[in-house]
Amino acid sequence: MDALSFTPAVGELPFTARQRELLALAHQLGREKFAPRAAQWDESASFPFANYQDLREAGLLALCVPQEHGGGGADYASYMMVAAEIGRFCGATALTWNMHICSTMWTGVLADGVPMTDAQRAEHLRCRALHFDRVVRDGAIYAQPFSEGSAAAAGRAPFGTIAKKVEGGWLVNGRKIFASLSGAANYYGILCTEDKGDDKPDARDTLYLAVPATSEGFSISGEWNPLGMRGTVSRNLTFKDVFVADGEQLMPRGVYYKGAQTWPAMFFTLAPTYLGLANAAYDFTVSYLRGEVAGEPPVKRRMYPTKQIAVAQMRIQLENLKSIFTRVIAEARPNPSKDERMRLYAAQYTVMEGANDIARLAIRTCGGQAMMKHLPLERIYRDSRCGSLMLPWTAELVLDRMGRETLYEPGERDE
Ligand SMILES: Cc1cc2nc3c(=O)[nH]c(=O)nc-3n(C[C@H](O)[C@H](O)[C@H](O)COP(=O)(O)OP(=O)(O)OC[C@H]3O[C@@H](n4cnc5c(N)ncnc54)[C@H](O)[C@@H]3O)c2cc1C
Repeated sequence: MDALSFTPAVGELPFTARQRELLALAHQLGREKFAPRAAQWDESASFPFANYQDLREAGLLALCVPQEHGGGGADYASYMMVAAEIGRFCGATALTWNMHICSTMWTGVLADGVPMTDAQRAEHLRCRALHFDRVVRDGAIYAQPFSEGSAAAAGRAPFGTIAKKVEGGWLVNGRKIFASLSGAANYYGILCTEDKGDDKPDARDTLYLAVPATSEGFSISGEWNPLGMRGTVSRNLTFKDVFVADGEQLMPRGVYYKGAQTWPAMFFTLAPTYLGLANAAYDFTVSYLRGEVAGEPPVKRRMYPTKQIAVAQMRIQLENLKSIFTRVIAEARPNPSKDERMRLYAAQYTVMEGANDIARLAIRTCGGQAMMKHLPLERIYRDSRCGSLMLPWTAELVLDRMGRETLYEPGERDE
């Protein structure tokens, strides 16, 4: 296949032919469809349904469904590259698409590397076929609402949403906050704790269940009027005696907990959206200073040395983001070494904080006229602020984990 006609958000790499094809598709969709529509979702805090129809038609909703199930069969690294390309054009689309894709990637290629008994493996293969089929055949959308406003999504307590085993399935009760794709998803992939009747909730009993949007006792509530990522429409979910059939399990009992420990890189999947936004801030700044932004007067600002220096500083930061991002996606695997895990944390911090810093520099450098609402920069700035807030790897929790895990080996105490 021919070389790409653009530099992807992850930079130039020795891509496979399939990766080039996917990047070209994402870039074209993003530039022609998602970028022109991005302001409308942001302004009205509404879900990008039109973009999802494009993703569906392009086969991108099934990107990480294995090929033997009729999907795109993309691996972790390929997904991460394509997601960064989409984030370059619409942050809210990339971030919500990530929640959907992860529902298929965690149960697909990532679960393949998680230890299971033969019985669990057989159960998993049976259940995931149902979910894959819905995505491939019906174009179904899956959300990934884990957060509850407690320490659970930070990985420090069992989830407060409870599932009790009943004949043929589970009875679910609880509440989720920040459920991106609320009202748009057909299935909500929730994490909840199995109630074993002993009043001792345990994170090892975490269940990963898909709740159909049409379930009795399921409801969506709350305002959605945030600073950024407004098109994610991340409202609250309530589950009141919701019956979820056995076959809706996204992973067998107890496997999610093992998966999270085996495959920490699964939590890095929020980062490509923000690498995309960092590219967007940089791309805009270059065009704006060259006087090439469509619809704007062709005023050049590139001749000022301070602006040239700022562009150089942005590029240096962007290269740092891309370097660590591409290194960790290339080495992502089950049971990473301590060195690899530290780098993963460092990459999350670098991308999430760096994207907002690049956007900040872009606003300062382009100047007042560039932050008007009809231009994308102020939206990119607001969207980029959200990355560091996302659990379980907020910027704070990453610092916390890195410091602790560097200074204490497993099991070490000071007493
Ligand atoms: C645009 C957007 C979309 C989102 N979409 C989703 C989604 O689809 N699915 C989903 O599950 N979540 C989603 N989230 C939620 C996100 O991952 C976080 O859960 C949310 O931002 C946390 O908000 P909070 O105010 O409860 O945070 P906090 O109050 O900061 O954290 C919640 C709890 O975590 C623990 N905690 C936090 N920080 C620390 C710390 N430094 N040390 C120790 N404990 C700590 C504490 O127990 C705290 O009470 C989204 C968030 C945003 C901004």
